[in-house]
Amino acid sequence: MQDFIDNLPQLAKDKHNENKAFFKKLKKKPPKQLDYVMQELHDREFQKTDCLECANCCKTTGPLFTDKDIERIAKHFKMKPQDFIESYLRIDEENDYVLQSVPCTFLGADNYCSIYDVRPKACKEFPHTDRKKFQQISNLTLKNVAICPAAFNIVEEMKKRIKL
Ligand code: SF4
Ligand code: SF4
Repeated sequence: MQDFIDNLPQLAKDKHNENKAFFKKLKKKPPKQLDYVMQELHDREFQKTDCLECANCCKTTGPLFTDKDIERIAKHFKMKPQDFIESYLRIDEENDYVLQSVPCTFLGADNYCSIYDVRPKACKEFPHTDRKKFQQISNLTLKNVAICPAAFNIVEEMKKRIKL
């Protein structure tokens, strides 16, 4: 698994043009059963991929924290939202709250998330491969395949399965 993760940026780069062309066509004419196919590909991939052996998303990129996330996590720590923000977050170029540093502060050495039950919505949903109307997040997916081995595999399977 680690070899695959280490090679992902290069593998994703090699596939970038092919993926971009695929998603362009997908956006133009998404198949009717796309939601169903994505759910199936997502479930199949995550049956064999153990996130605890990976945690590459938590190590290399952080989630966005919504106001609701901040309130919920601050409450978990019995902190005021503003104190939580000052301790852990910063505002990025797009004006969103993100982690001050990666790997994520809440990631343990065993790859467990210490705030799993109250983790940000973006963490719960990553890599978004079971999202409805998947064609709408093509640009995000083009980036995520360089971070997430499961997303990379899912996109490779998509290209085999969906003929456009
Ligand atoms: S979501 Fe992807 S990058 Fe994150 S731990 Fe699971 S397989 Fe790894
Ligand atoms: S909050 Fe938890 S799931 Fe989200 S990036 Fe940090 S360790 Fe990973």
